[in-house]
Amino acid sequence: MSKVKYCHFHPETETGLSCVTCGKNICPKCMAEAAVGFKCPECAQALKSHIEQISPKSYIIGGLSGLLIGTGAGYIWHKLSPYGALISLAVAYAAGFLISRAISYSIGNKIGVKIQIVAGIITFISLIYNPIVVFSLLTTGIFPSFSSVLAMMSIWCTSCIIKLLAVVIATWAAVRHFRI
Ligand SMILES: [Zn+2]
Ligand SMILES: [Zn+2]
Repeated sequence: MSKVKYCHFHPETETGLSCVTCGKNICPKCMAEAAVGFKCPECAQALKSHIEQISPKSYIIGGLSGLLIGTGAGYIWHKLSPYGALISLAVAYAAGFLISRAISYSIGNKIGVKIQIVAGIITFISLIYNPIVVFSLLTTGIFPSFSSVLAMMSIWCTSCIIKLLAVVIATWAAVRHFRI
């Protein structure tokens, strides 16, 4: 004979579900879907505040980590792109992926819309205004304007639609990791 359970939040509702975090009985009216199983409203709220709580310091550390990896990966992408469209797209995806991991690791695996925007911007900079390319132009005595770097990286030309696509793919790869 199984014991009838009632929802912790709705004492009149019978249920067989419980929160994966705290074990309280929950019902379909109040349960929140979690990565594995369901959570009660209290634990779901706690998770939400955790993922959205990213301190300004974390944004800076995450941003710098992402930019460091992005600068290297973006430069490799820039050097390998002439070897073919497939290589260009694959390396761009890898760059975006690595940037997202670097940021995620340095901020303690937090996610959220704001850090998603940060990851997107960093990926964009790494690929279309790569600091190494900018620096190499500086050493030749040319002040690198935005358009001159774009030209240098051969993104702004009719045959370089693949490169634009690669930038989109890299940004997508970096941003998707931080979806809530
Ligand atoms: Zn709970
Ligand atoms: Zn309930």
